[in-house]
Amino acid sequence: MDLGLTGKTAIVTGGARGIGASIADRLLKEGAAVLIADRSEPSRQPTNDSAISSVRGDLSETETCRRAVQEAVRLFGSVDILINNAGINDGVGLDAGPTAFKESLQKNLIHYYTMAHLCADHLKASRGCIVNIGSKVSISGQGGTSGYAAAKGAVNALTREWAVELAPFDVRVNAVLPAETWTPLYEDCLASMTDPSGARRAVEALIPLGHRFTAPEEIADTAVFLASARSSHTTGQVVFVDGGYTHLDRKCTAGSDVRDFGKSVRDNA
Ligand code: NAP
Repeated sequence: MDLGLTGKTAIVTGGARGIGASIADRLLKEGAAVLIADRSEPSRQPTNDSAISSVRGDLSETETCRRAVQEAVRLFGSVDILINNAGINDGVGLDAGPTAFKESLQKNLIHYYTMAHLCADHLKASRGCIVNIGSKVSISGQGGTSGYAAAKGAVNALTREWAVELAPFDVRVNAVLPAETWTPLYEDCLASMTDPSGARRAVEALIPLGHRFTAPEEIADTAVFLASARSSHTTGQVVFVDGGYTHLDRKCTAGSDVRDFGKSVRDNA
């Protein structure tokens, strides 16, 4: 399937590693030009044809967002696709207090809005699109992470809000929601536990499809599809790419007694 992305231009926040790096890779492979906005240096370096470039800085600073958009427009002349992706599950819970809560929103939410605000006129001009990367925490809760949960809940709401506001300009807005995706962020998180490989196996057991983590490339494939003209009549959607983790009945990953619940009733019917 030709995604029709050749010659399109994209900004990917948090594109230096993890899910963002996979999305940037997929976009490049499909022929788009990509600007990565990240605190870290991307592993993939700029090429001679300028198909990839980067702006370094903390996206919590409005100035970093502004530089990213200015640089994309200077290099590529347009913005067709905004991928809002940078974020961190920073564990700011009820005990952390309002200052930490606001900082968590800065890290996980405010730059999504700032980037959309700064890109809006460019996206209207190109009849482009936004793909927001959210999280299952937006609907399932986790405990101990009020800032991140509030930010990701708002990402779902803003996906629909911006879809309405931008529909008259043919600009589409969708979200992709990971649950358990194997990235450096996740690896770091498990590494801090007493038994990282045991913890990994315990999480994998809870994922219905294949009992494995989602690969970043699987999130990227859906994000890039939503960013392409092959999704030309899809907007305001929140798409879960999680191996069934968020929505499928807990019984399907439980032990056999619970899994077979209802079977004896059916057998005896
Ligand atoms: P990751 O492996 O940590 O990669 C995120 C990248 O974004 C890193 O390069 C990071 O830089 C950068 N970044 C984060 N905050 C930034 C900021 N304020 N300014 C500039 N750069 C920033 O994370 P990931 O797992 O790919 O997560 C990507 C997105 O998916 C996030 O929105 C996350 O909430 C969401 N998500 C992930 C999972 C999962 O299982 N992995 C589950 C649900 C949702 P540093 O390396 O310097 O931190």
